[in-house]
Amino acid sequence: MALSDPIRVALIIAELRSNQWKSRDEIESIQEERLIRLIAHARKHVPHYRKSFDGTVFEGLDSLQSLPIVKKEDIRANGASFISGLHNRESLRKFRTTGTTGECLEHFMDHSDGLTGTALRQHSFMQCGFSPRDLMVNMAYSRMPKFPFQPLLYRVRNVLPSLDIEKNLLALKSASADIIYAYPSNLVLMAEHNLKSGSRFKVGKAISVSEILSERARKTISDSFGCSIRDYYAASECWAIAWECEKGSLHINSDHVVVEVVDARNKPVGEGKSGRLLVTPLWRRSMPFIRYEIGDCGTLGSGCGCGRGLHVLKSLDGRTLDFIVLPSGRRISWFFLEGPICSAGSMAALQVVQESRESLHIKIVPNTGYAAGIGERIRKAVLSILPEKMSVSVEITDGIRSGARGKKPGFISKLGPSA
Ligand SMILES: [Zn+2]
Repeated sequence: MALSDPIRVALIIAELRSNQWKSRDEIESIQEERLIRLIAHARKHVPHYRKSFDGTVFEGLDSLQSLPIVKKEDIRANGASFISGLHNRESLRKFRTTGTTGECLEHFMDHSDGLTGTALRQHSFMQCGFSPRDLMVNMAYSRMPKFPFQPLLYRVRNVLPSLDIEKNLLALKSASADIIYAYPSNLVLMAEHNLKSGSRFKVGKAISVSEILSERARKTISDSFGCSIRDYYAASECWAIAWECEKGSLHINSDHVVVEVVDARNKPVGEGKSGRLLVTPLWRRSMPFIRYEIGDCGTLGSGCGCGRGLHVLKSLDGRTLDFIVLPSGRRISWFFLEGPICSAGSMAALQVVQESRESLHIKIVPNTGYAAGIGERIRKAVLSILPEKMSVSVEITDGIRSGARGKKPGFISKLGPSA
């Protein structure tokens, strides 16, 4: 860590805090200037873009749609070609993502990009009500990804979420958390248990990540814990994309990421219309993602009464808040299955389908050269963590079919929505 690192992060946060109040036109000028620099860098130094941008004309934000879309399979097929020639792959840090889309991907980032990502996340948390004095209990990830001096910015206690909801609540209580960072499915189950058990445990604030925070879930969580709750949209590839303001709008960090919404023919759709999301983090240099199809669907909104000029994500579709319902009727978050499935072997995508209360069907798209027996290993791993007896089948397939609007969710319940 260089002595200048904290200063650099502080300056980026100060800039983010200032830029959010600029007008939409001013923010789009910043986007355009950063986009031009990013495209020039990618064209010159990144083998994939040197080839794919050949013959394309890019003149600014309005011509972004003339550039090709990058899909996860492009990166899986030849990830090394996305790494800038100015960066040594051995010195980069590896990240792995699966998330709600069930599509697995490895990507790389250097220290400098990590500092910007750190600043973006800190700023987004603060806009969601987090104060640097707060102790955040992270129940979403086994460990929150961090860069060297991040403990100076966050006081985070990582608590591995358990299928035992009472254990989760006890961990929260003993940590004296000021703010919880968790999947809403897990928060809902803890909130319901908190009410039923009469423990009336309270916590000041909550940040919801990864799944849709439905109005019903929001009410259950805030009624039980007596807390304010804000939605946060993040992805390993972009870190912080959007956060919920005090007026309830999901604001995009537009000065650092361009979010496009496109239809089935890859044409941009206007505000108020749903489509597939393409993201371009304007700050990634070591492994740039340009017009990257992140796997989510959403709708852009027109603006927000809070006065910020940042673009608004009116809705995120497809990141369903859904549960696996066990034979007894008890519900668990499907995210608990993701770790055991992924650790069974290398795969390109996965999808868990709840066929009935008694049965789960898991579809796997393995990577090239996968080891035989992966299906049985997954079946045994899932059976070992399910708290009730269910039948589990595993299918090895070439691809997972898209659902509505091109979305491939990591989890589908045929029992219907449960929250
Ligand atoms: Zn707002």
